[in-house]
Amino acid sequence: MKIDVRQFPESGLDLKGEASAADYDLPPDMFFEPGPVRYAFRVERAGPEFLVTGRFSIEFRLACSRCLEPIPWGVRIDRFAASFEAAGIEMINLTERIREDTLLALPMAPACVLDTEERCPITGVSYRRGSDAFADWHRTEAWEALDQFKPQSNPKKK
Ligand SMILES: [Zn+2]
Repeated sequence: MKIDVRQFPESGLDLKGEASAADYDLPPDMFFEPGPVRYAFRVERAGPEFLVTGRFSIEFRLACSRCLEPIPWGVRIDRFAASFEAAGIEMINLTERIREDTLLALPMAPACVLDTEERCPITGVSYRRGSDAFADWHRTEAWEALDQFKPQSNPKKK
């Protein structure tokens, strides 16, 4: 997102709108079906700098770390702030800052919120201890761990 500051009004600029998420180079293996970046920024000249403050949000889908299904997720930055040296610039480019703030706002392990029965609202799988699905889930994990272990524990004999 670029802001033309060649004829910058003394009273500053208020910008509000939507920008396509495609312009932000968000990693496509993490961000499924991103919606537009919705923003409301205030741009002011403060001495030798331009100051951009405001907020933006973006909605998309992330893979749930528990069941791997895409779940709706949103990032909302309410206190965006960036400054740019004013001398000799014609454009302020916010793209990199918006991208960085979005990536930093992601959780390490996004996961669906289980309902009161401890079921995933997307897949319907129950993660309640003692339930069949929970036991199946752990059994699968155990087998996967064993599968990975086998090649080393069974050296081929000639
Ligand atoms: Zn889930």
